[in-house]
Amino acid sequence: MTQSPKQCRAGHSCQPRTLREAWYCQIHHSAMRLDEIARFLGIKASTLADAVNPDGDGSMLAASHHERALELTPDNHAVARYVAGLGGAVVFILPAEVTIDESTAKVVKEFGEMLTKHAEARADKVMTRLEAAAFRVEAEQSIAATMALVHAAEREAELGPQ
Ligand SMILES: [Zn+2]
Repeated sequence: MTQSPKQCRAGHSCQPRTLREAWYCQIHHSAMRLDEIARFLGIKASTLADAVNPDGDGSMLAASHHERALELTPDNHAVARYVAGLGGAVVFILPAEVTIDESTAKVVKEFGEMLTKHAEARADKVMTRLEAAAFRVEAEQSIAATMALVHAAEREAELGPQ
């Protein structure tokens, strides 16, 4: 279900149960305000609010508006995560272009942080919901760092020998 913007942005992100809830999160819980997004889309703020209201029966936006809205909220990927989840997939956000050496160092760092978080959570032999959520954040960062290394390696391979 959806959380407050503060909770969502602090790492306890919303768990949308419907595409509308995912859109609600993406539009209401991103860095850009709803009225700013609406202005960039060239529509009324109330139209956008109706379109992403999980309880509403307003018409959905045009596909072109949805595509543009996704570009305007790069800090929130609720819709992509929701759609991927329908197929049992998980979305990882890759960092901006980094070199293989930078990526390798980050993989080691993130993996260490993930294990540390796990050890902290297990210290009292009880895994709470909060601890599990914090562990997930670290685990996703670790996997994202690994995927960034894969991309850096593939980019370098395309460049060929210098
Ligand atoms: Zn949210």
